[in-house]
Amino acid sequence: MVGMTNAERQARFRERRKAELEALRNAAPAVAASDEDDDFRPSSSVALVSALNKRSGETSIEWTEATINPFVGCTRVSEGCRSCYAERDAHRFSNSVNGPPAYAGTTKDRKWTGIINRASDASFYESLKNKRPTVYFVCSMSDFWHVNVKDEWRKEFIEIMHNTPHHTYQLLTKRPENISKMLAAINITELPSNVWIGATVEDSRVKSRIDHIRNIPAKVRFLSVEPMTAPLGSVDLTGIHWVITGGESGPGARPCKVEWVREVRDQCRQQGVAFFHKQWGTAESNPLSAAYPGKEASGITLKDFIKSIDPHAKGGAFLDGLLFRAIPEFALCQ
Ligand code: SF4
Repeated sequence: MVGMTNAERQARFRERRKAELEALRNAAPAVAASDEDDDFRPSSSVALVSALNKRSGETSIEWTEATINPFVGCTRVSEGCRSCYAERDAHRFSNSVNGPPAYAGTTKDRKWTGIINRASDASFYESLKNKRPTVYFVCSMSDFWHVNVKDEWRKEFIEIMHNTPHHTYQLLTKRPENISKMLAAINITELPSNVWIGATVEDSRVKSRIDHIRNIPAKVRFLSVEPMTAPLGSVDLTGIHWVITGGESGPGARPCKVEWVREVRDQCRQQGVAFFHKQWGTAESNPLSAAYPGKEASGITLKDFIKSIDPHAKGGAFLDGLLFRAIPEFALCQ
């Protein structure tokens, strides 16, 4: 991509998305049906794409291609942190002789300590070396806007993002109230145009996070409604381009109800926002579980039954018979 004109870049991304859509149609016949069904067709301002990460296989997170962690460590901030996978992984890494040294001290007794360490240079500078345009989820093992991240690290990584315009960086946080003041502290008035800013809004109690990103000048502003363990209720999506929903997965996962997800989908449709349903989290939360005939009749477990008819992500992802995997139309055109 380096050395290409803007028109060439856009043509290349269009081709890529066309191929992804074709792959999605082949993989999930129910999606093809959505084109015939106006009731369920996503807004015309968005395009269906397949899971971005399927090209790279570098992460199992459906809405990105790869993760990058310039620093590691965190602390819990709200209900959405209850089953934090990063805390579990950090505990494992910091207790393994082969674990990355950056995790030392980040957890104690299986809980975050609040110590945030800069990652190895290999991790910190990874995207500078990567010439293939990649969509990165930044800080899957931390929070870019955590108060314990040093300003100079944040500033240096923003410079890296600026100097690698062929990549896209997704910065998702549960602390969006810090963004403006932290940018001011390092004298940055504008984020690079390849940075997307997102806030996790797992339930209605933290809806005020939306206001903190609504006016941040970023190419894409997005919400992650995950893990969805309660209804979000009515939501003003002014200034928001993309909404992702997802049920909780892992040990002790809490249920995700279809009516909560439908409510978000319908508001996205009404307000012209791209909607992406990532997963149900567990087979039990998948509405198709209502069709399970039982192990005696089918000879398989509920989990395997769901996997056989809805193999996407964790617990499947079909919603009313369709796969919703939209991103903002302009998002990947640099
Ligand atoms: S903000 Fe993210 S990484 Fe930090 S504790 Fe919460 S879920 Fe885990």
